[in-house]
Amino acid sequence: MIGADVGMDTTMEIVDHVRDRAKAEQAFEAEELMGILRDEISSQLGEFAGRDGLLDIEPPCIFLVVGVNGTGKTTTVGKLAHYLKDRPARVMLVAADTFRAAAVEQLERWAERVGVEIVKHQRGADPAAVVYDAIQSMRADRRDFALIDTAGRLHTYVNLMEELKKIKRVTVREAGEQFTVKTLLVLDATTGQNGITQAKLFHEALGLDGLVLTKLDGTAKGGIVLAIQRELGIPIVMVGTGEQVQDLGPFDAQEFAAALLE
Ligand code: GDP
Repeated sequence: MIGADVGMDTTMEIVDHVRDRAKAEQAFEAEELMGILRDEISSQLGEFAGRDGLLDIEPPCIFLVVGVNGTGKTTTVGKLAHYLKDRPARVMLVAADTFRAAAVEQLERWAERVGVEIVKHQRGADPAAVVYDAIQSMRADRRDFALIDTAGRLHTYVNLMEELKKIKRVTVREAGEQFTVKTLLVLDATTGQNGITQAKLFHEALGLDGLVLTKLDGTAKGGIVLAIQRELGIPIVMVGTGEQVQDLGPFDAQEFAAALLE
């Protein structure tokens, strides 16, 4: 479990539970113990499972998608647009990463691929202004979902958090009573313990409603989410398992626990 990035404290706590249950249930065989372990992990995660939560949210809703560059934020926005469009729903993308040269083009490619509208300004524009425009057109065109792609790196971390806070303020203000706003953090499952630091910083600055764990296809790790749920109580909403449009699905605690122990 430590090898899968679950972390020392969380591992010890889970092992304690397994020991207690093994005693109570008189389970001594390896198979039985593994079963209890899987159970413990999935019930810890299941408490927060996102299956019936955010993804089934009633539209209209705005998802503000944040995360460090390279975690798979833009890809997740594209895949999530495809997922929501299938509900079926009217989805739009919002290019609020105006800092990185290729960010808007990358999001445009996703919009074409999925077949949804995109709201964008020029590079270097104020991202809060992009969001403002997007919400006006969401209202005018009666869209169900808006997915806001944001910057994952600026000159400094403080700058980034200040910008994201401003984007969130404007989003919440413009959404008013009409649209629900949910903030999702995209986290790379291969990041290891550093993922906890990222989650804490983003949560303190913005208040997170859910996590999307990406690149689970490339690793048997991802145990970091256990520590994140234990410390911060943020549910995992979805997992990314590849680079294709369909490679995003709801989080399944039992499946995840089994994969972690394979
Ligand atoms: P951003 O900088 O956070 O917006 O990250 P991108 O969306 O540009 O993704 C960074 C890289 O990770 C790209 O090469 C993506 O194709 C890749 N990627 C994103 N999600 C996944 C995933 O779930 N699995 C795999 N294997 N690759 C992913």
